[in-house]
Amino acid sequence: PSDTGRVLSIQSHTVQGYVGNKSAVFPLQLLGYDVDPVNSVQFSNHTGYPTFKGQVLNGEQLWDLIEGLEANDLLFYTHVLTGYIGSVSFLDTILKVINKLRTINPNLTYVCDPVMGDEGKLYVPEELVHVYREKVVPLASMLTPNQFEAEKLTGLRINSEEDGREACAILHAAGPSKVVITSIIIGGILLLIGSHQKGKGLKPEQFKIEIHKIPAYFTGTGDLMTALLLGWSNKYPDNLDKAAELAVSTLQALLRRTLDDYKRAGYDPTSSSLEIRLIQSQGEIRKPNVELKAERY
Ligand code: ADP
Ligand code: PLP
Ligand code: ZN
Repeated sequence: PSDTGRVLSIQSHTVQGYVGNKSAVFPLQLLGYDVDPVNSVQFSNHTGYPTFKGQVLNGEQLWDLIEGLEANDLLFYTHVLTGYIGSVSFLDTILKVINKLRTINPNLTYVCDPVMGDEGKLYVPEELVHVYREKVVPLASMLTPNQFEAEKLTGLRINSEEDGREACAILHAAGPSKVVITSIIIGGILLLIGSHQKGKGLKPEQFKIEIHKIPAYFTGTGDLMTALLLGWSNKYPDNLDKAAELAVSTLQALLRRTLDDYKRAGYDPTSSSLEIRLIQSQGEIRKPNVELKAERY
């Protein structure tokens, strides 16, 4: 085991603002990782704005890049990280990439944020759900769905902590040994539920972290969360609860700063989706001050 690594991060790029690779690459670098970003799209800004323009990479173009790396013997990675993926053909190529990289490093860790939607709404084509369920989840080492995505992947309705824990167990049986449901609202409280199955057939070790919900809507937080979970869980491979405490603590400090900055500038933080203060929060990325503690079940 090593506390660093080389990460292939296949995610969106936005010229301005922080989602996808823009919110994942910098924090992973700060935590000491070499990060090789592939930009699955290049957009002017994130899709929460009134409009955006830009380009979308297709599966063949992704494979071209992999062939270029292969021709120079540059395909050794310790981790692959994927987030928002807009088409079945691109997702199929990602599967091909994972399989290829595992022929070179059988211990490759694949961290998958199965981005499909939020708050009851899908924002990817419906056919993607099936591909995630049948083909992607089985290859993933760690999965970081939100509540809606965990429901889509398991067919379960998650209305309680018990349901959340059961969803994690179902997902373990399909492949990933680590599952973190990054946000689930139960009785008005925001929870993260984590689950680590330390061996096939073993009962997973599970925990929750109660998070104070900030009354504002942020974009890029899911992408940042997954990147931090990758970074910390690699440093603490047997302590997913500790990794999650560190990641959540960074998020909370960063969101507080974001909110304060917007308020100081006279914005109403509940009125639109806020850009996170990522660069300004580099201290809290490097050395999070753990205030929120995980509770073991
Ligand atoms: P996604 O965008 O994938 O749905 P989440 O909403 O689960 O991502 O957000 C990821 C993390 O960001 C959560 O675990 C939480 O720590 C933090 N977060 C996001 N929005 C808020 C909020 N309004 N208040 C507090 N924490 C938040
Ligand atoms: N990628 C792009 C291009 C986006 O526009 C967004 C959200 O608007 C995201 C990714 C995901 O953001 P989040 O981490 O908030 O789910
Ligand atoms: Zn997400």
